[in-house]
Amino acid sequence: MQQKDPFVFSYAEIKAEGGRRAVISPQPAAFADAFETPDALKKLDVELDFSVGGDSILLEGKVKAELSLQCSRCGDPVTRSFEDSFDEVYPDTVEYIDTREVIRETAALLAPIKVLCAENCKGRCLVCGINRNRQTCSCKPDHASPFEALKGLKVRQNDDKKKL
Ligand SMILES: [Zn+2]
Ligand SMILES: [Zn+2]
Repeated sequence: MQQKDPFVFSYAEIKAEGGRRAVISPQPAAFADAFETPDALKKLDVELDFSVGGDSILLEGKVKAELSLQCSRCGDPVTRSFEDSFDEVYPDTVEYIDTREVIRETAALLAPIKVLCAENCKGRCLVCGINRNRQTCSCKPDHASPFEALKGLKVRQNDDKKKL
């Protein structure tokens, strides 16, 4: 017999009980595929609150994830917790309430597009690449326009093509 999944519930059981509350902290690996970097998810806590209505069950859920990310400016690792909640209604025509997909979707949206190791992160030197939070250099990165760097890159690519 297949092992019962902690995120799949019997509609009839919850209805008979008049509701249910579940707090689950699964192995991060079970939801790792929700994230671009498979090892980004360090810890996951899920709270599920089922309320029974006339012909449906309302699920109010909360997803909290500890994510290991990279600072958008300097690239250093940043570990931070994020949480969000969701609502989902299940009609009484369903036999099982499978919460895995809504949890996966909610978790996937937790990862921010940008994260900073510190509000005042100095980033990396555009010229020599050192982490300016830890080191100083004599370059003048404040005057180096990122567009200049792009121009240089293009010229180099063209040169390569000519050589071929
Ligand atoms: Zn940083
Ligand atoms: Zn530098």
